[in-house]
Amino acid sequence: MSIITLENKQFSIDSSNFIYSKCSSRPSKSVVNPENYTKYKSIKETFSFLDGSQDLSFKECIGYIFGAKIKIDKTVYILDNETYKVVNFTDNKFKILTKNLNDKHSNYIIIVNDIYTYPKIQYIYMLSNFFTNVKIVSSQLMSYKLIVCHKRITNLDFEIKDNYIKDFDIKVDELLVKYIKDDNDTFLENTINMNQVVNSMCKSLSQISNLNRETYTINKYYKAFINKECSTYCNCKINSIFYSNLFECYICENCLILTRVFP
Ligand SMILES: [Zn+2]
Repeated sequence: MSIITLENKQFSIDSSNFIYSKCSSRPSKSVVNPENYTKYKSIKETFSFLDGSQDLSFKECIGYIFGAKIKIDKTVYILDNETYKVVNFTDNKFKILTKNLNDKHSNYIIIVNDIYTYPKIQYIYMLSNFFTNVKIVSSQLMSYKLIVCHKRITNLDFEIKDNYIKDFDIKVDELLVKYIKDDNDTFLENTINMNQVVNSMCKSLSQISNLNRETYTINKYYKAFINKECSTYCNCKINSIFYSNLFECYICENCLILTRVFP
C-alpha cells in the first residue's frame, strides 16, 4: 500500500503555455522503465487471479484512508460523513475531467488505471492548487490508483482548449516523480515475473491444478484482506499450508495467513 499526500500548493499555472497533442501521450521514461513497459505490453493476456477486480481494487484503496463507507450510487459515495463524486479517468481526456471537477460537488475520487505519462503527473500535481489536499492511493496488487481530492478551495480556473496535452509546463516535485516511477516499475516487474511463472506452470496437468488452487486461494485472500476478515485464530495444520509460486510465500488455506520464508 502506498499513500502520497499533496498538501495545498500555490504555484502559478499559465494556460497559454500548455502544449497540445493530437493523441494521448506515450509513456515517459521518467515515469516508467521503457523496456519493461514494452515487455508488459507484449503480454497478450496478463494473468489476473482476481474476478471483478475493478470493484475490489476500489474497495481496497478507499479502505486505506476512510473508515465509514456508504455507497449512494455508482458515482456518489459518503465517506467519513462527506460526499465524494467518483470520476473515471481512463483515456487521458483532460478537458472533460477538468469540467467534471468543477461541478457542484467539492470532494472527488478520480480512478486512474495507470500513471505512465508525465502530463498525467503534472495534472495531478496541479490539482493540489485547488484542493485542501490530494492523495494518491495505490492498490497493492493491481495497476490501479485513486486520486482523492479533498475539499475544493477554488474552481479549477485554467483553460484547456483540447483534450490531449503534451505538456502543462509545470515542474513536478522530483521526489513525487521518483515515487510514482518506483511504484510503476515494481508493478510491471511483478506482472512480467508472474506471467513467466504462470507460463512455466502450465506445462503439465498437475501444475495447472496447482495454479487453480493458487488462484482460488489468492482470490479468497484478497477479498478477506479488503473486508478485514483474515482470521488469526488458527493452528495452521501442515496439510492446509501450501507454497504459492505466484506470491513466493506460504499460504494457510484455512486462515489465509501469508508467510514469506526468507532464505
Ligand atoms: Zn492457518
